[in-house]
Parts: sequence; C-alpha cells; structure tokens
Amino acid sequence: MEGRAEVATISSAIRNAQGAGMARIDAQLLLLHALGTPPALASAQRAWLLAHGDDPLAPGAAQRFADFLARRARGEPLAYITGHKEFFSLALQVDARVLVPRPDTETLVVWALDVLAQTASGIAVDPLRVLDLGTGSGAIALALKNARPQMQVHATDVSAAALEVAKANAGVLGLEIGFALGAWLEAAHGRYHCIVSNPPYVADGDPHLPALCHEPLSALTAGPDGLRDIRQIVANAGRYLHPGGWLLLEHGFDQSAAVLELLAQAGFRNRQSRNDLGGHTRCSAGQFGAQPASVAQ
Ligand code: SAM
Ligand code: GLN
Repeated sequence: MEGRAEVATISSAIRNAQGAGMARIDAQLLLLHALGTPPALASAQRAWLLAHGDDPLAPGAAQRFADFLARRARGEPLAYITGHKEFFSLALQVDARVLVPRPDTETLVVWALDVLAQTASGIAVDPLRVLDLGTGSGAIALALKNARPQMQVHATDVSAAALEVAKANAGVLGLEIGFALGAWLEAAHGRYHCIVSNPPYVADGDPHLPALCHEPLSALTAGPDGLRDIRQIVANAGRYLHPGGWLLLEHGFDQSAAVLELLAQAGFRNRQSRNDLGGHTRCSAGQFGAQPASVAQ
C-alpha cells in the first residue's frame, strides 16, 4: 500500500515548529503571516488559530510557513519577516534598512511627552517644536506626533534608506513630519523645545553584536566605548535648544554615569535618568541654558 503523507493542520504545523525549538508566539505570528493575515491584525487573530486547529494547511501556505521558520531560525527578527512592528500603539512597516524599534524606547517617548507637557504649561509657546535625531523607522517622531498632533515634529537620519522607511510610515499613518537627511545636528533647523534621540550606543566588538547581525551596524555601534555619537549630540544640541529646552537620550544600561557627566560638561542642568521597562537605567536627560526667569508674585 502506498504511504500517504500526513496532511498538516494548523495545530500540527504549530506543534512541529515548537518541537523544532520555535517560540509558540513566533510560530503563531509566522503562520498567520503565511496565511496572508494583515500584520497589524495578527496579534488579535491568534485566537482564530486555536479555533481552526483542525483545518488543513494548504500546500502554498505550508511552504511559506517553512520558509519563514527557516529565516527566523537563522536569527532574522520576526519584524523583518512580517514587515511589521508595533511601537507606542502605532503599526510601523520595517525592513532591514532600519533598526527594529524596541519597547524600551517607549520610555523615551513617555519622557519626551512629559517634558513637552511641562513646557506647554510653563510658557505660551505655539507650536512646540521637537526633533528626533536618527529616526530610523520614524518610531519616536511618529509616536510623538500621534500623541500631540499640534506639535511640529522634525526627524533626521544620516541614512537615506532609513529615511525612506520613515517617510513611508508617516505617509501610511497620515502624520506630518519634517524629514531631513544629515549627520546629527547638521540636519537641524532652528531651535527646539525638546531634542530626543536613540542613537547607536553599542561598543564596537560588543559580544551582543552577532545576535543583532541582521540589523544595520550603522544603527548600532558607536566607537570603542559606544559613546562616540552621544558625545557629538551632547556637544552640539545646546545651540538648537530654546532656553530651558530638553535633550533626552537613550543609552546602554551601563552608560548613565558617563552620559550624565557629558551633559554636565556641556552645560545641561536638571540632569536625571530614567529606567526602562526592565528596570535598567536606559535614558538620561538635561535642560539647556538659563533657568527661566521666575514669575513676579
Ligand atoms: N530612532 C529609531 C528607533 O528608536 O527605533 C532608530 C534608532 S537606531 C538605534 C539609530 C539611528 O541613527 C539609525 O537609524 C542610524 O541610521 C542613525 N544614525 C547613525 N549615525 C548617524 C548620524 N551620524 N547622524 C544621524 N543619524 C545617524
Ligand atoms: N537597544 C539595542 C540593543 O542593544 C541597541 C540600539 C542602539 O544602539 N541604540 O539591542
């Protein structure tokens, strides 16, 4: 009697992928992608997979799923395979031209919104101006603009390829951002109430780099101590800040003392750090220039 290959079902395909070491959530999201589910809906559709566990998997979808699993097993970020990453509740399109936005960076967005809210309540400013340096996919700039549509948001990157991704995201989301190509503050125009950046900060040769090999190295590394880009930003940002304007930087878990020192040397006051979601000190900030004159009582 001729042997017949067992027909794969949705649940057997997921089980097999897990058996081969794939995380269940990754297997589920990749299978939904193989089935043509729009990436932004995939998280909500995981329950659909459970309800349809006995459905047969069509050969085309099974082949696509196998290809996606092989790419994921080679370390490619899930977000590059699906072309999608959620950041601050925004659906972003991402690919290998940009760093995959990290949930840790949402800390920086929340902090920027806090200081901008203070700025808006302290003085009559119209409109608030904010600059995102090294915008990559546009994650930070788009999250800020989406949260405060009245704000004027500018975003730069030295990578023309990254800016294309950011511009496409702005277009899809219908958010107006002023984009500029250039190296750090060379691409800035005028003065801002807040400058925010998640620059490269990994040291050249850091042992974590092999695990990040699918992402652009130019988005990750910054010299022997990882501080080359932060030094440049801190040294030049003051000239582009309104008096009392804030510079907010993401950095590595062990770099806060060095970044606070650089901020002090460059004349920033009110220097402080914040922790990321994992409890690591991952952002530092300061206010530039003179204390605003106290209001006469
Ligand atoms: N802001 C994005 C995010 O948080 O997901 C991307 C951050 S990624 C860590 C750093 C970004 O800085 C990359 O997009 C990279 O192209 C950009 N970059 C690197 N060197 C730069 C430079 N000299 N001037 C401006 N941007 C630069
Ligand atoms: N947070 C990234 C990582 O270590 C690094 C991003 C960066 O250099 N800004 O995975």
